[in-house]
Amino acid sequence: MVVATNGFPSSNATIPPTNISPNAILPLDRGDPVVFEEYWKKMCESCTVVIKGWELMSYLSDMSNVCWYMLPEMKEAIKRLHHVVGNAVTEDRYIVVGNGATQLLQGAVFALSPSEANSQPINVVAAVPYYSEYQDEVDILRSGLYQWAGDAASYEKNEPYIEVVTSPNNPDGTMRGPVVKSEAEGKLIHDLAYYWPHYTPITHQADHDIMIFTFSKCTGHAGSRLGWAIVKDIEVAKKMTRYVQMSSIGVSKESQTRVAKIMGVICDGYQNFGSMKSELFFEYSKRILKQRWEKLWEVIEESKVFSVAKYPKAYCNFTNESSESFPGFIWLKCKEGIEDCGSYLLEKLKIRAREGERFGVSPKYARISMIGTDDEFNEFLKRVSNAKKECD
Ligand code: PMP
Repeated sequence: MVVATNGFPSSNATIPPTNISPNAILPLDRGDPVVFEEYWKKMCESCTVVIKGWELMSYLSDMSNVCWYMLPEMKEAIKRLHHVVGNAVTEDRYIVVGNGATQLLQGAVFALSPSEANSQPINVVAAVPYYSEYQDEVDILRSGLYQWAGDAASYEKNEPYIEVVTSPNNPDGTMRGPVVKSEAEGKLIHDLAYYWPHYTPITHQADHDIMIFTFSKCTGHAGSRLGWAIVKDIEVAKKMTRYVQMSSIGVSKESQTRVAKIMGVICDGYQNFGSMKSELFFEYSKRILKQRWEKLWEVIEESKVFSVAKYPKAYCNFTNESSESFPGFIWLKCKEGIEDCGSYLLEKLKIRAREGERFGVSPKYARISMIGTDDEFNEFLKRVSNAKKECD
């Protein structure tokens, strides 16, 4: 292990000690969003949901809705949250809930695939670096309806395609639009998992054909497995609902009840209902991510080993101030001489990152989670800071 143990002035002096052994492998390859746990501990009482043994037993919720398994209070909470934040249009749109954005992405690909028998599988693309799970989500069943076709920017086939646009993007935090140049017929799915004010300025109300959001990255409640899609076309909404029906006959009502409750608590805070003793959620979450990014910059700016691209400022209509982005991941690039960033991190610093190849790019890049525990983050800073000293 190449970690030096003394003589670290400046940035290292500001890194608090951690309870993690210097020899332990730091698992920062996953994006488990536990960073906001402290906030929800403080909000404990107002977010508690009690469900009696006889309640929520039926499969059905609202048979007059296209998404018949969605609880009416779930739908209202989603619409209210988007109204408060101003990040997406929900008026005259269909809402489909799913077991996370993961199920809805697959449902959307299914819904946009050709329904005629004998048609070729439609190509699914996303611009590199793309979210590492898309390829497997599309290819796992070796479906005859759709197939993964890689980088959207280099798609040149004259065949119909589906482009997944992830904005802000996972892993690199950039704001994106569609990039395919082919003349063929193309359909879009917008994955807006990170289009929330703590990660990026809310510059406009998104209004695309299919927009996918997830509670996992909005509040950190990944364990509730709840995502939703906002859909313009009723036929697409019906097919997505059918997909969820065929894979899980709906979405847990316990989850829907809990998520609707927590969304309501967030919105009450902003709309001044009830007594809000704690900081408002997006103020808290942005403050925490901003602090982490500022500490990271201190370390990266002095690093001879790693670099990270800077994010431009933009005016946020939600916070009414100009701000940078504070993404959920660090998209790390190793400097000259280190060809495999993931192996360097693991072998020299005992940090497990997700390697660039998983995102369709060079191994010079690796993704590190910014949304783990404080201890993990501080230990990461310490080790990266030490790596810098090693190379001085
Ligand atoms: N899309 C993106 C861009 C993501 O980063 C994630 C989670 N890492 C997902 C979808 C999946 O989210 P969920 O937990 O809702 O399945």
